[in-house]
Amino acid sequence: MRIARSHVLVSIDIESVASGAWEVLRRLKEEISLKGLSEEVKVLETGTLGISGKGVVIAVYPERVFYGGVKPEHCPRIVEEHLLKGRPLKELLIKEEVTREIKRELIGPMREQKRVVLENSGIIDPEKIEEYLARDGYVALEKALSKSPEEIIAEVKKSGLRGRGGAGFPTGLKWEGARKAPGERKFIICNADEGEPGTFKDRLILEGDPHKLIEGLIIAGYAVGAQKGYIYIRGEYALSLHRMRKALEDARKYGLLGENILGSGFSFDLEIKEGAGAYVCGEETALMESLEGKRGNPRIKPPYPTVVGLFGSPTVINNVETLANIPPIVKNGADWFKTLGTESCPGTKVYTILGDVNFPGLIEVEMGTTLYEIIFGYGGGIKGGKKLKGVLVGGAAGVFLPESLLNVRMDFDNLKQYKAVLGSGAILVMGQGASIPDVLHSVLRFFRHESCGQCSPCRSGTKELFRISERLIERRGKAEDLDLMVKLSESLWQSSLCPLGQSLIMPVKSALENFREEFLPLVQ
Ligand code: SF4
Repeated sequence: MRIARSHVLVSIDIESVASGAWEVLRRLKEEISLKGLSEEVKVLETGTLGISGKGVVIAVYPERVFYGGVKPEHCPRIVEEHLLKGRPLKELLIKEEVTREIKRELIGPMREQKRVVLENSGIIDPEKIEEYLARDGYVALEKALSKSPEEIIAEVKKSGLRGRGGAGFPTGLKWEGARKAPGERKFIICNADEGEPGTFKDRLILEGDPHKLIEGLIIAGYAVGAQKGYIYIRGEYALSLHRMRKALEDARKYGLLGENILGSGFSFDLEIKEGAGAYVCGEETALMESLEGKRGNPRIKPPYPTVVGLFGSPTVINNVETLANIPPIVKNGADWFKTLGTESCPGTKVYTILGDVNFPGLIEVEMGTTLYEIIFGYGGGIKGGKKLKGVLVGGAAGVFLPESLLNVRMDFDNLKQYKAVLGSGAILVMGQGASIPDVLHSVLRFFRHESCGQCSPCRSGTKELFRISERLIERRGKAEDLDLMVKLSESLWQSSLCPLGQSLIMPVKSALENFREEFLPLVQ
C-alpha cells in the first residue's frame, strides 16, 4: 500500500454538519479523484478539530494548515492550488494572529495544548475501531484485566483524579465506596446528559473518541464489580448517539464487551439511554430515576448512589470527561498523571470557550492554567480588539468574574478562593459592550424553565428571581430588588433539594457583587 503524502481531515461534528460538512467531504473526495490524487492524498472524517463558529473546518497535514468556512465550491481550488501546487488558499486560512498581550506565540486552536482526553479527537475516524486500536486503544483495558480490581482502584486513587462533572470528588474514593458497598448487583453509569447552554465539551468527546469512553467504562465496571453499565446521553445529541451505538457494536464484535472479555472471565455490557431533554436529569439521582423509567425528579441524599443507586443497588456515576481520563491513567500510571496539573488537582481540563473571543471552541490544558492564557492564548483574545469586561466561568450555574481576576489559576481549589467553580467547563467571555444584567437574565430564564418543580423553594424561587431580573432589564426595578435577589438565592441554596436550585446563588451573587455598577442604574 502506498503511503499518502497528504492527509485532509474534515471535522464532522453537529456544528459542521449543519454547515454542510458532508457535502464538503463528498466534493473533496470527488475533486481529488478527478485530479488522479486518490493514492497520494487521503481524506479522513474526524471528530471536532476543536474550532467553533467557523463553519466547516478542515486541516491539511503534514503542513498543519487549518481552513474555516469551507463550502463545496471551494473544494476544486483547495485541490488544485493547495494539494496539487502547494499554494494554500489565503482567504480560507484560520489565521494565527499575534496580539499585543501574547507576542510571537501561536494563539487560538493552533497553540499547543496538553491533550489527554482529546488525544485522538480530530485525528482518528471515530467510527473506525481499528483507528482507535492503532493508537493503543484498549491497551489499558488489557492491563487492567491483568490486575485485581483493588489494584486498579488504588491506582486511580493514587492518581488524584477528581470528577470532572463539576463537584471535583475523588474518583478512586467513589469507586472504592461502591466496591465495598454490600450487594451482588452493581452498576456504572456515564452521565452524558450535558444540558447547560454554552456547554458542549462532553458532546465533542463522545463524537470525537467514543471508544475511549467505552474503555473507561469497562475498566470502571471491572474495578467496582459491576456487570452492567449505562451511558445516559442527551437526546438531542444525534451524532453522539450514532457514534456511540456504532462503537458499542464494534467493541462487541472484537470481544471487548459481553461475556468473558478478552478471556479474563470478566463479563460486562453497556446500554445507551437517550435523555428526553430535561436539564435536571443531569443531576445524578434524577438521572437514575429516569433510567428506572420514572419521572426525572432528584432524590433526597443520603443515601448516596454508591450505596443505594440504580434499582436500589450500589452505583457509580461518572461524567464523560472523568471516564475518558481512565484509560490514559491505567496505561501510563498514576505517577505520570500527577506530573500534569497542580498538586491537589492533577491532570488536564477540557474547556469550551465561547462568547466574544476570536477563536471559540474546545481546548484541553493542564489544571492550573490561568484564565488569561485560556482567553488570550487559546481563545485568541477579544473580538474586534475590544477590552475584556468579564467572564462567566463554569457554565450557567457558574460565577461572573471581573477582568481583574484574569490571573486566577483554574483548578477546583484555586477557584474556591473566589467562590468560583470549574462547573461544566464552559467559559463565556464578555467584551466591553456586553450587558451583565442581560446575561444574568438569560441564565435565570433557563433555570426557571428547567426547575422540575418538585420542591417549592426552587419551583417558586426560580420564577421570582426571573421576574425581578425582568423588572431590572426593563428598567422597572425597585430599590430593594438587588438585595432581594441575593436573599432569595441564599434561601434557595439553603432549602432546595438538588444542585439546580442550590447553585443559583453563584451567578446571582457574583453578578451583583462584581458588576453592581451595571445594576444600579436599573433600579429607581
Ligand atoms: Fe426540582 Fe429545583 Fe427542587 Fe431540584 S431544587 S428538586 S430542580 S424543584
